[in-house]
This record gives sequence, structure tokens and C-alpha cells, in this order.
Amino acid sequence: MSSMKCPKCGHANKRNSEECSGCGVIFAKLEMQIEKNKWEKEKRRQEALERVEKSKLIIENAILTGDWSKVPKEKIKQALSRIIVTTSFDVPGGRTVRAVDIISAEVALGMNFAQEWFTSLSDTFGGRSKTTQSVLQDGRKKAVEELRFEALKLGANAVTGINLNYSQFSGKNKSMLFVVAYGTAVIVMRKVKKNVLISQKS
Ligand SMILES: [Zn+2]
Repeated sequence: MSSMKCPKCGHANKRNSEECSGCGVIFAKLEMQIEKNKWEKEKRRQEALERVEKSKLIIENAILTGDWSKVPKEKIKQALSRIIVTTSFDVPGGRTVRAVDIISAEVALGMNFAQEWFTSLSDTFGGRSKTTQSVLQDGRKKAVEELRFEALKLGANAVTGINLNYSQFSGKNKSMLFVVAYGTAVIVMRKVKKNVLISQKS
């Protein structure tokens, strides 16, 4: 005699049973629940896709119009985090398909900081202070972040050959130190594996 395995507990029931004699589940209800779960899962997947598409559109629209004021900060942050930054001239696993432009970003480290910086350079015993170090690090991070934003504005997805420089500006007894970052905004595509044959249309 053929039997029907309960999807919930695995108990073998008589064929065409309405409920499981092992766990008491009603099969029609269970099936409905499974269908509902599937449908809800698909709905969530679709909604997630729509959100991604929508945020892509918001970003693309801002790139085209140059108006970033309506783009939520969080979306910009997400887009920036996807931009690859490297000091090398190529991206591992990627192929540069277009160099868009040379870009640069400057971050001022503040008044009087330059003085502190040059003092610390001459101080061979003490080295640089913790504050000096962290100001420099913060400045560098900010400069790279701005470089990312410059790339994003151009519709690029990576910045290669990044170079960081410090430049001093002084006048009227005051001096300022800037972190200057520059690089090439590029469009990188994922490399296709060598052993994968791409079919050619003839
Ligand atoms: Zn059962």
C-alpha cells in the first residue's frame, strides 16, 4: 500500500489522509502555509531588488544632474563604499575599461597645525605626537573619501594610482597644512576568466 510522508514530521500516513496521524498537522493548511511562505519570501526578494534599483536610480540621477542635495546621506555613503581605491594602477581581478578623469581632493588640517607638524619633524627624540598622528590620519581618510565622491560624481567606480601629498600654505604669520590626494577616476569591469569562452555572434 502506498503511503504519504508528512512534510513536517516525516510520519508515513495513509494515502489521501487529511491530517498526519504522527503530528496532527492538517495537510491542506500546511500546504497553504508553505505557499504563503514562498510567496512572502519572493515578495521580500522583489522589494529588496526594487530598493536596490531605486537607490541606483537616485544615484544615477544625481550623477546626471549634478544635484546631490536630494540624495540621502546613507545612500551616498553606500555608493562611496563601493568605489575601489588603490595606489596601484590596476584593480586586482578587474579590467580598466575607461579612464574618466584625473581627480583631486584637498583637506585642510587647520591653522597652527603646520607649525606643530614642522616642530615635530625636527624633534628627533620625541617623534610626532599622538594628536599630530591622528590629525594626519583623519586628514588622509577625509581626502580619500572626497576622492571617492569626486569619482562617484563622474560615474566612475574606482580610483587608481592614488597619491597623497602634504602641502603647506603660509602667510601673515599663519600657516596651514593640506592633505592633497589625487588619482585617476576609472571604470573597472570584472575580469572574465581566461578559460571561459565567450560565444561570438557571426
Ligand atoms: Zn506529521
